[in-house]
Amino acid sequence: MSKAYDFDLIVIGSGPSGRRAAVQAAKLGRSVLVIEEQHRVGGVSVHEGTIPSKTLRETVLNLTGWRERGFYGQSYRVKSEITANDLRMRLSKTLDFEVDILEHQFARNTVRVQHGRGRFLDSHRIEIEAKDGATSVVSGEKILIAVGTRPHRPNDVPFDDKIIFDSDAIVHLDELPRSLIVVGAGVIGIEYATIFNALDIRVTIIDAREDILGFIDREVVAELMHWLRDLGVHFRLGMKLESIQMEAGQPVAILEGGRRVRGDMLLYTGGRSGATDTLNLSACGLEADARGRLKVDPQTFQTDVPHIYATGDVIGFPSLASTSMEQGRLAAYHAFTHG
Ligand SMILES: Cc1cc2nc3c(=O)[nH]c(=O)nc-3n(C[C@H](O)[C@H](O)[C@H](O)COP(=O)(O)OP(=O)(O)OC[C@H]3O[C@@H](n4cnc5c(N)ncnc54)[C@H](O)[C@@H]3O)c2cc1C
Repeated sequence: MSKAYDFDLIVIGSGPSGRRAAVQAAKLGRSVLVIEEQHRVGGVSVHEGTIPSKTLRETVLNLTGWRERGFYGQSYRVKSEITANDLRMRLSKTLDFEVDILEHQFARNTVRVQHGRGRFLDSHRIEIEAKDGATSVVSGEKILIAVGTRPHRPNDVPFDDKIIFDSDAIVHLDELPRSLIVVGAGVIGIEYATIFNALDIRVTIIDAREDILGFIDREVVAELMHWLRDLGVHFRLGMKLESIQMEAGQPVAILEGGRRVRGDMLLYTGGRSGATDTLNLSACGLEADARGRLKVDPQTFQTDVPHIYATGDVIGFPSLASTSMEQGRLAAYHAFTHG
């Protein structure tokens, strides 16, 4: 352990990049503390993003027998009445399993974990505020910001996490709707649209852009849209969303020109912002951009303050679990092999 500091490395956030950096630094013989504000480690990847969405998809495909419908016909079902409870059961088992693996990995590599929200006091000291309000201060020779992102929740969208959801909250839904409006035809919106469609839920996707998934080959997208339409997904593309209102307990999306789309539930996927707003970045000499993201050297992952690194979704594109992990590993390696 460095003499001047409590830890060689403090990692803020236990998602893929934070966890991989912590383990890499520990393998280099360094003392590491991971600060995680949620009560379980794993980050968005384990609790709201990658693993929950893939688990929901697999559960739906298995319970509906969707993959066999080409052979047995469109009415083929493995389980006739699928409930939100059926989806939650497998989800909670899978997530428990993942958290267990991570906790074990941290313990095996003697990475310490402290639960609470971290904020900078200066460029080496972090104050940790636990859920009960208790605070403590730790110092680190190097610091890694791996706080990820949160869904963008505009003030004029009446989120209640029961009928109108963002992509983090939808994972915890209590009931399955008969119809779903998905606002945003990006990867998250399209992924959930296909999951709900497989449950025979009527899905309408709204996006102001004329096209979906702008970064994918157009021929592939055309084929995908053809299949989705064939499966009953409705598209309202090139139509600006004016507002979302609740009417008689149902969400209504009001589009430019007055067209109204009504559903039982609404999923709003309007992008994600870096979770830097509570880090008190000014105390360590850093500033985030308008979407809460941090700028780093693309090779070393150092911020403008050289002993502070940032990795994962908080630095922006490509915002994937796999790339976040590799960024974390490279940042930790750089921190302790380049002076
Ligand atoms: C619906 C959805 C589906 C996805 N599907 C895929 C996929 O199929 N494949 C793929 O590769 N990626 C996918 N992703 C992206 C993937 O989840 C992210 O790229 C990845 O989680 C980013 O990891 P991260 O290290 O930035 O941290 P995150 O996983 O974002 O975790 C950050 C952690 O930091 C903690 N934290 C934040 N602020 C503080 C603070 N001040 N103090 C202490 N702790 C703090 C948070 O509580 C959180 O646990 C998906 C994302 C979503 C939302």
